Amino acid sequence: MNVEDRAEELASDLGVDKEEVKDDLENLVSYSVPLEEAVGSLRRKYGDSDDGGGTAPPERDVTEITTEDDGVTVSGVVLTVGKRSIQYQGTEQVIFEGEFADETGKISYTAWEDFGIEPGDAVRIENAGVREWEGNPELNLGERTTIAVDEDVDVPYEIGGDRPLTELAPGDRGVNVEVRVLEREHKIIDGRDGETEILSGVFGDESTRLPFTDWEPHDEIEEGASIRIEDAFVREFRGAPSINVSEFSTVRTLDRAVDVTEEAPRMSIRDAVESGGLFDVEVVGSAIAVRDRSGLIERCPECGRVVQNGQCRSHGAVEGEDDLRTKVIVDDGTATVTAVLDEALTADVYGGGLEDAREHARDAMDRDVVTDAIREAIVGREFRVRGSLSVDDFGATLNATAFDACEDDPADRAHELLAEVGR
Ligand SMILES: [Zn+2]
Repeated sequence: MNVEDRAEELASDLGVDKEEVKDDLENLVSYSVPLEEAVGSLRRKYGDSDDGGGTAPPERDVTEITTEDDGVTVSGVVLTVGKRSIQYQGTEQVIFEGEFADETGKISYTAWEDFGIEPGDAVRIENAGVREWEGNPELNLGERTTIAVDEDVDVPYEIGGDRPLTELAPGDRGVNVEVRVLEREHKIIDGRDGETEILSGVFGDESTRLPFTDWEPHDEIEEGASIRIEDAFVREFRGAPSINVSEFSTVRTLDRAVDVTEEAPRMSIRDAVESGGLFDVEVVGSAIAVRDRSGLIERCPECGRVVQNGQCRSHGAVEGEDDLRTKVIVDDGTATVTAVLDEALTADVYGGGLEDAREHARDAMDRDVVTDAIREAIVGREFRVRGSLSVDDFGATLNATAFDACEDDPADRAHELLAEVGR
Protein backbone atom coordinates (compact mmCIF):
# COMPACT_ATOMS: atom_id res chain seq x y z
CA MET A 1 0.00 0.00 0.00
CA ASN A 2 1.39 3.41 -0.93
CA VAL A 3 1.35 6.72 0.88
CA GLU A 4 -1.63 7.95 -1.14
CA ASP A 5 -3.83 4.96 -0.21
CA ARG A 6 -2.79 5.02 3.44
CA ALA A 7 -3.50 8.75 3.63
CA GLU A 8 -6.98 8.24 2.21
CA GLU A 9 -7.72 5.42 4.64
CA LEU A 10 -6.38 7.40 7.61
CA ALA A 11 -8.29 10.54 6.68
CA SER A 12 -11.58 8.67 6.60
CA ASP A 13 -10.80 6.79 9.83
CA LEU A 14 -9.91 9.95 11.71
CA GLY A 15 -12.37 12.27 10.01
CA VAL A 16 -9.69 14.76 8.98
CA ASP A 17 -8.62 16.36 5.72
CA LYS A 18 -6.89 13.91 3.39
CA GLU A 19 -4.39 16.41 1.95
CA GLU A 20 -3.25 17.36 5.45
CA VAL A 21 -2.74 13.75 6.44
CA LYS A 22 -0.91 13.05 3.18
CA ASP A 23 1.46 15.98 3.72
CA ASP A 24 2.24 14.77 7.23
CA LEU A 25 2.79 11.21 6.08
CA GLU A 26 5.06 12.23 3.22
CA ASN A 27 7.00 14.42 5.54
CA LEU A 28 7.58 11.60 8.05
CA VAL A 29 8.47 9.11 5.34
CA SER A 30 10.96 11.59 3.88
CA TYR A 31 12.72 11.46 7.26
CA SER A 32 13.00 7.67 6.82
CA VAL A 33 10.24 6.87 9.30
CA PRO A 34 8.79 3.48 8.28
CA LEU A 35 5.29 3.91 6.81
CA GLU A 36 3.48 1.88 9.49
CA GLU A 37 5.22 3.80 12.26
CA ALA A 38 4.31 7.09 10.58
CA VAL A 39 0.67 5.99 10.40
CA GLY A 40 0.70 5.14 14.12
CA SER A 41 2.24 8.48 14.95
CA LEU A 42 -0.45 10.34 12.97
CA ARG A 43 -3.23 8.33 14.61
CA ARG A 44 -1.88 9.56 17.95
CA LYS A 45 -1.48 13.10 16.66
CA TYR A 46 -5.08 13.28 15.49
CA GLY A 47 -6.26 11.79 18.76
CA ASP A 48 -7.39 8.34 17.68
CA SER A 49 -7.60 6.38 20.90
CA ASP A 50 -7.94 3.15 18.96
CA ASP A 51 -4.19 3.02 18.43
CA GLY A 52 -3.81 -0.18 16.46
CA GLY A 53 -5.79 -2.15 19.02
CA GLY A 54 -4.43 -0.17 21.98
CA THR A 55 -6.67 1.47 24.55
CA ALA A 56 -6.68 4.86 26.24
CA PRO A 57 -4.40 4.97 29.28
CA PRO A 58 -6.27 4.18 32.51
CA GLU A 59 -7.18 6.83 35.08
CA ARG A 60 -5.16 6.33 38.24
CA ASP A 61 -4.85 7.73 41.73
CA VAL A 62 -1.25 8.70 42.35
CA THR A 63 -0.74 5.92 44.92
CA GLU A 64 -2.04 3.33 42.42
CA ILE A 65 0.63 4.08 39.83
CA THR A 66 3.27 1.39 39.48
CA THR A 67 6.18 0.88 37.14
CA GLU A 68 4.06 -1.85 35.51
CA ASP A 69 1.87 0.88 34.02
CA ASP A 70 2.62 1.73 30.39
CA GLY A 71 0.76 4.99 30.44
CA VAL A 72 -1.64 6.65 32.84
CA THR A 73 -3.98 9.60 33.17
CA VAL A 74 -3.95 11.46 36.49
CA SER A 75 -5.60 14.56 37.94
CA GLY A 76 -4.09 16.67 40.70
CA VAL A 77 -1.90 19.61 41.57
CA VAL A 78 1.63 20.52 40.47
CA LEU A 79 3.72 20.92 43.65
CA THR A 80 7.09 21.99 42.25
CA VAL A 81 8.68 22.78 38.88
CA GLY A 82 12.42 22.79 38.33
CA LYS A 83 14.13 23.59 35.04
CA ARG A 84 17.43 21.94 34.23
CA SER A 85 19.70 21.28 31.30
CA ILE A 86 20.96 17.73 30.85
CA GLN A 87 23.02 15.74 28.36
CA TYR A 88 20.69 13.29 26.67
CA GLN A 89 21.97 10.97 23.96
CA GLY A 90 24.85 13.33 23.24
CA THR A 91 22.86 16.54 22.98
CA GLU A 92 21.95 19.17 25.48
CA GLN A 93 18.29 19.14 26.43
CA VAL A 94 16.24 21.33 28.75
CA ILE A 95 13.88 19.39 30.97
CA PHE A 96 11.38 20.24 33.69
CA GLU A 97 11.15 18.19 36.85
CA GLY A 98 9.29 18.25 40.12
CA GLU A 99 6.50 16.70 42.13
CA PHE A 100 2.81 16.23 41.43
CA ALA A 101 0.11 15.19 43.92
CA ASP A 102 -3.52 14.26 44.33
CA GLU A 103 -5.47 13.50 47.52
CA THR A 104 -3.84 10.08 47.81
CA GLY A 105 -0.14 10.83 47.44
CA LYS A 106 2.64 12.49 45.50
CA ILE A 107 4.89 11.39 42.66
CA SER A 108 7.83 12.95 40.88
CA TYR A 109 7.81 13.73 37.17
CA THR A 110 10.13 14.63 34.34
CA ALA A 111 8.76 16.66 31.43
CA TRP A 112 10.70 16.55 28.15
CA GLU A 113 8.80 19.52 26.77
CA ASP A 114 7.76 22.85 28.22
CA PHE A 115 4.11 22.35 29.16
CA GLY A 116 4.08 25.74 30.90
CA ILE A 117 3.00 24.27 34.24
CA GLU A 118 3.60 26.14 37.50
CA PRO A 119 3.43 25.14 41.16
CA GLY A 120 -0.21 25.23 42.31
CA ASP A 121 -1.69 24.48 38.86
CA ALA A 122 -4.61 22.03 39.03
CA VAL A 123 -4.28 19.88 35.94
CA ARG A 124 -5.29 16.66 34.26
CA ILE A 125 -2.32 14.86 32.74
CA GLU A 126 -3.35 12.50 29.95
CA ASN A 127 -1.15 9.75 28.70
CA ALA A 128 1.90 10.11 30.91
CA GLY A 129 4.52 7.41 30.64
CA VAL A 130 5.75 5.72 33.81
CA ARG A 131 9.35 4.82 34.49
CA GLU A 132 11.35 3.88 37.52
CA TRP A 133 13.42 6.56 39.25
CA GLU A 134 15.41 5.78 42.39
CA GLY A 135 13.23 2.76 43.05
CA ASN A 136 9.90 4.58 42.68
CA PRO A 137 7.52 5.15 39.78
CA GLU A 138 7.93 8.51 38.08
CA LEU A 139 5.72 10.22 35.48
CA ASN A 140 7.39 10.78 32.16
CA LEU A 141 5.72 13.61 30.24
CA GLY A 142 6.57 13.58 26.55
CA GLU A 143 5.14 14.27 23.13
CA ARG A 144 2.22 11.87 23.61
CA THR A 145 1.20 13.61 26.84
CA THR A 146 -1.41 16.34 27.02
CA ILE A 147 -1.98 18.57 30.02
CA ALA A 148 -5.24 20.46 30.57
CA VAL A 149 -6.51 22.75 33.31
CA ASP A 150 -8.66 20.82 35.77
CA GLU A 151 -10.79 21.35 38.87
CA ASP A 152 -8.80 22.34 41.94
CA VAL A 153 -8.37 19.68 44.60
CA ASP A 154 -7.03 19.84 48.14
CA VAL A 155 -3.76 18.00 48.47
CA PRO A 156 -2.08 17.28 51.79
CA TYR A 157 1.27 18.73 50.67
CA GLU A 158 2.96 22.08 50.60
CA ILE A 159 2.72 23.73 47.19
CA GLY A 160 5.83 25.47 45.88
CA GLY A 161 9.49 24.78 46.53
CA ASP A 162 10.16 26.89 49.66
CA ARG A 163 12.13 24.79 52.15
CA PRO A 164 14.36 25.22 55.19
CA LEU A 165 17.79 23.69 54.57
CA THR A 166 17.24 20.77 56.99
CA GLU A 167 14.36 19.53 54.85
CA LEU A 168 16.36 19.25 51.63
CA ALA A 169 17.27 15.79 50.37
CA PRO A 170 19.27 14.59 47.34
CA GLY A 171 16.94 14.40 44.33
CA ASP A 172 14.80 17.44 45.26
CA ARG A 173 14.13 19.70 42.28
CA GLY A 174 12.62 23.15 41.92
CA VAL A 175 13.45 24.18 45.48
CA ASN A 176 13.57 27.75 46.82
CA VAL A 177 15.73 28.73 49.78
CA GLU A 178 16.48 31.92 51.74
CA VAL A 179 20.02 31.73 53.05
CA ARG A 180 23.13 33.62 54.10
CA VAL A 181 26.33 32.94 52.17
CA LEU A 182 28.82 31.76 54.82
CA GLU A 183 31.69 30.77 52.55
CA ARG A 184 32.26 31.24 48.85
CA GLU A 185 35.18 30.50 46.55
CA HIS A 186 35.77 30.59 42.80
CA LYS A 187 36.88 27.36 41.19
CA ILE A 188 37.96 26.44 37.70
CA ILE A 189 36.76 23.05 36.53
CA ASP A 190 37.07 21.06 33.34
CA GLY A 191 33.50 21.30 32.15
CA ARG A 192 31.73 20.00 29.05
CA ASP A 193 32.89 23.07 27.12
CA GLY A 194 36.45 23.30 28.41
CA GLU A 195 37.49 25.28 31.45
CA THR A 196 34.57 26.81 33.30
CA GLU A 197 34.39 28.97 36.37
CA ILE A 198 32.02 27.89 39.14
CA LEU A 199 31.33 28.96 42.71
CA SER A 200 31.29 26.66 45.69
CA GLY A 201 30.86 27.23 49.39
CA VAL A 202 28.44 27.00 52.27
CA PHE A 203 24.93 28.42 52.80
CA GLY A 204 23.27 28.73 56.21
CA ASP A 205 19.77 29.45 57.50
CA GLU A 206 17.88 29.19 60.79
CA SER A 207 17.85 25.39 60.54
CA THR A 208 21.35 24.32 59.49
CA ARG A 209 24.13 24.85 56.91
CA LEU A 210 24.73 23.07 53.59
CA PRO A 211 27.38 23.16 50.86
CA PHE A 212 26.49 24.57 47.44
CA THR A 213 27.76 24.72 43.87
CA ASP A 214 26.78 27.51 41.48
CA TRP A 215 27.40 26.30 37.92
CA GLU A 216 26.69 29.70 36.38
CA PRO A 217 28.25 32.17 38.84
CA HIS A 218 25.65 34.66 40.10
CA ASP A 219 27.04 38.00 41.35
CA GLU A 220 24.51 38.08 44.20
CA ILE A 221 26.21 35.06 45.79
CA GLU A 222 28.91 36.83 47.78
CA GLU A 223 30.17 36.17 51.27
CA GLY A 224 27.84 37.56 53.95
CA ALA A 225 24.94 38.25 51.56
CA SER A 226 21.38 37.24 52.46
CA ILE A 227 19.73 35.92 49.32
CA ARG A 228 16.69 34.12 47.94
CA ILE A 229 17.33 31.43 45.37
CA GLU A 230 14.50 30.01 43.27
CA ASP A 231 14.66 26.84 41.25
CA ALA A 232 17.71 25.10 42.69
CA PHE A 233 18.16 21.34 42.81
CA VAL A 234 19.77 19.06 45.36
CA ARG A 235 22.43 16.45 44.75
CA GLU A 236 24.42 14.20 46.98
CA PHE A 237 27.96 15.33 47.72
CA ARG A 238 30.12 13.11 49.95
CA GLY A 239 26.97 11.51 51.30
CA ALA A 240 25.26 14.76 52.26
CA PRO A 241 22.78 16.99 50.40
CA SER A 242 24.34 19.80 48.36
CA ILE A 243 22.46 22.72 46.78
CA ASN A 244 22.98 23.20 43.04
CA VAL A 245 22.36 26.61 41.51
CA SER A 246 22.08 26.62 37.70
CA GLU A 247 21.65 28.94 34.74
CA PHE A 248 17.89 28.60 35.27
CA SER A 249 17.97 29.57 38.95
CA THR A 250 17.08 33.11 39.95
CA VAL A 251 19.06 34.72 42.76
CA ARG A 252 18.15 38.00 44.41
CA THR A 253 19.44 39.87 47.43
CA LEU A 254 17.03 40.05 50.37
CA ASP A 255 16.40 43.25 52.29
CA ARG A 256 16.61 41.32 55.56
CA ALA A 257 19.51 39.45 57.13
CA VAL A 258 18.93 35.70 57.30
CA ASP A 259 19.68 34.36 60.79
CA VAL A 260 22.03 31.44 60.75
CA THR A 261 21.95 28.90 63.53
CA GLU A 262 25.18 28.52 65.50
CA GLU A 263 24.28 24.98 66.43
CA ALA A 264 24.30 21.78 64.47
CA PRO A 265 21.18 19.60 64.78
CA ARG A 266 21.70 17.09 67.63
CA MET A 267 20.86 13.51 66.64
CA SER A 268 21.29 9.98 67.88
CA ILE A 269 24.09 8.23 66.02
CA ARG A 270 21.61 5.72 64.61
CA ASP A 271 19.35 8.43 63.15
CA ALA A 272 22.36 10.29 61.78
CA VAL A 273 23.77 7.17 60.11
CA GLU A 274 20.35 6.18 58.74
CA SER A 275 20.01 9.60 57.08
CA GLY A 276 22.86 8.51 54.78
CA GLY A 277 25.00 11.59 55.36
CA LEU A 278 24.84 15.06 56.94
CA PHE A 279 26.93 18.14 56.30
CA ASP A 280 26.75 19.40 59.88
CA VAL A 281 25.52 17.32 62.81
CA GLU A 282 26.19 16.88 66.52
CA VAL A 283 26.23 13.60 68.41
CA VAL A 284 27.04 12.82 72.03
CA GLY A 285 28.62 9.52 72.96
CA SER A 286 31.45 7.72 74.70
CA ALA A 287 34.86 7.25 73.13
CA ILE A 288 35.17 3.47 73.23
CA ALA A 289 38.38 2.92 71.26
CA VAL A 290 41.13 4.75 69.41
CA ARG A 291 41.90 3.05 66.11
CA ASP A 292 45.33 2.23 64.73
CA ARG A 293 47.02 4.80 62.54
CA SER A 294 46.04 7.50 65.00
CA GLY A 295 48.46 9.84 66.77
CA LEU A 296 51.71 10.82 65.07
CA ILE A 297 51.25 9.66 61.48
CA GLU A 298 53.00 10.25 58.16
CA ARG A 299 51.24 11.48 55.04
CA CYS A 300 52.23 11.23 51.39
CA PRO A 301 53.40 14.70 50.21
CA GLU A 302 51.68 14.04 46.83
CA CYS A 303 48.19 12.94 47.85
CA GLY A 304 47.92 13.30 51.61
CA ARG A 305 47.17 9.62 52.18
CA VAL A 306 48.56 8.04 55.30
CA VAL A 307 51.90 6.38 54.56
CA GLN A 308 52.69 2.99 56.07
CA ASN A 309 56.28 1.74 56.27
CA GLY A 310 57.34 4.52 53.89
CA GLN A 311 54.89 3.37 51.18
CA CYS A 312 51.97 5.34 49.73
CA ARG A 313 49.22 3.25 48.15
CA SER A 314 49.34 5.40 45.01
CA HIS A 315 52.85 6.78 44.92
CA GLY A 316 55.03 3.97 46.26
CA ALA A 317 58.09 4.87 48.34
CA VAL A 318 57.80 8.47 49.51
CA GLU A 319 59.27 10.72 52.17
CA GLY A 320 56.26 11.02 54.47
CA GLU A 321 55.31 14.25 56.22
CA ASP A 322 54.40 14.17 59.92
CA ASP A 323 50.84 14.96 60.95
CA LEU A 324 48.56 14.42 63.92
CA ARG A 325 45.17 12.80 63.67
CA THR A 326 42.86 10.65 65.72
CA LYS A 327 40.31 8.09 64.64
CA VAL A 328 38.07 7.38 67.59
CA ILE A 329 35.04 5.13 67.77
CA VAL A 330 32.14 6.90 69.49
CA ASP A 331 29.15 4.97 70.83
CA ASP A 332 25.93 6.53 72.14
CA GLY A 333 24.05 3.30 72.78
CA THR A 334 22.13 3.48 69.47
CA ALA A 335 25.07 2.94 67.08
CA THR A 336 28.74 3.78 66.59
CA VAL A 337 30.59 6.19 64.34
CA THR A 338 34.30 6.76 63.67
CA ALA A 339 35.11 10.37 64.46
CA VAL A 340 38.20 11.71 62.70
CA LEU A 341 40.02 14.53 64.48
CA ASP A 342 42.43 16.73 62.51
CA GLU A 343 45.75 18.07 63.76
CA ALA A 344 44.28 20.89 65.86
CA LEU A 345 41.60 18.76 67.54
CA THR A 346 44.10 15.96 68.14
CA ALA A 347 46.53 18.45 69.70
CA ASP A 348 43.73 19.47 72.10
CA VAL A 349 43.09 15.95 73.36
CA TYR A 350 46.77 14.98 73.33
CA GLY A 351 47.75 18.13 75.16
CA GLY A 352 50.52 19.12 72.77
CA GLY A 353 51.27 19.93 69.14
CA LEU A 354 53.23 18.26 66.37
CA GLU A 355 56.64 19.27 67.85
CA ASP A 356 55.71 17.89 71.28
CA ALA A 357 54.57 14.64 69.69
CA ARG A 358 57.84 14.31 67.71
CA GLU A 359 59.90 14.89 70.85
CA HIS A 360 57.75 12.43 72.80
CA ALA A 361 58.22 9.76 70.11
CA ARG A 362 61.97 10.47 69.81
CA ASP A 363 62.52 10.15 73.56
CA ALA A 364 60.61 6.87 73.71
CA MET A 365 62.03 5.74 70.33
CA ASP A 366 58.46 4.71 69.54
CA ARG A 367 55.76 6.70 67.74
CA ASP A 368 53.01 4.65 69.40
CA VAL A 369 53.51 6.49 72.68
CA VAL A 370 51.57 9.38 71.19
CA THR A 371 48.67 7.10 70.25
CA ASP A 372 48.74 5.59 73.74
CA ALA A 373 48.64 9.02 75.37
CA ILE A 374 45.60 9.99 73.29
CA ARG A 375 43.92 6.70 74.08
CA GLU A 376 44.45 7.26 77.79
CA ALA A 377 43.12 10.80 77.59
CA ILE A 378 39.81 10.03 75.86
CA VAL A 379 38.73 6.37 76.00
CA GLY A 380 35.88 5.87 78.44
CA ARG A 381 34.90 9.54 78.51
CA GLU A 382 31.86 11.18 76.95
CA PHE A 383 32.21 13.74 74.14
CA ARG A 384 30.06 16.08 72.13
CA VAL A 385 31.20 15.65 68.54
CA ARG A 386 30.21 17.98 65.71
CA GLY A 387 31.12 17.60 62.05
CA SER A 388 30.28 16.23 58.60
CA LEU A 389 28.99 12.69 58.48
CA SER A 390 29.48 10.40 55.50
CA VAL A 391 28.37 6.81 55.24
CA ASP A 392 29.79 4.20 52.89
CA ASP A 393 30.29 0.45 52.70
CA PHE A 394 33.03 0.65 55.32
CA GLY A 395 30.88 2.42 57.87
CA ALA A 396 30.08 5.88 59.13
CA THR A 397 32.74 8.58 59.42
CA LEU A 398 32.29 11.86 61.22
CA ASN A 399 34.91 14.41 60.16
CA ALA A 400 34.96 16.44 63.33
CA THR A 401 34.98 20.23 63.47
CA ALA A 402 34.52 20.13 67.27
CA PHE A 403 35.26 17.45 69.87
CA ASP A 404 34.45 18.58 73.40
CA ALA A 405 34.33 16.63 76.62
CA CYS A 406 30.84 16.82 78.10
CA GLU A 407 30.85 19.24 81.02
CA ASP A 408 28.76 17.04 83.23
CA ASP A 409 31.72 14.97 84.37
CA PRO A 410 31.24 12.67 87.40
CA ALA A 411 32.62 15.20 89.89
CA ASP A 412 30.10 17.86 88.79
CA ARG A 413 27.29 15.37 88.93
CA ALA A 414 28.29 14.41 92.47
CA HIS A 415 28.19 18.08 93.51
CA GLU A 416 24.74 18.49 91.99
CA LEU A 417 23.54 15.41 93.79
CA LEU A 418 24.92 16.66 97.10
CA ALA A 419 23.25 20.02 96.58
CA GLU A 420 19.93 18.32 95.98
CA VAL A 421 20.28 16.06 99.00
CA GLY A 422 21.19 19.07 101.14
CA ARG A 423 17.95 20.89 100.31
ZN1 LIG B 1 50.43 9.37 47.60
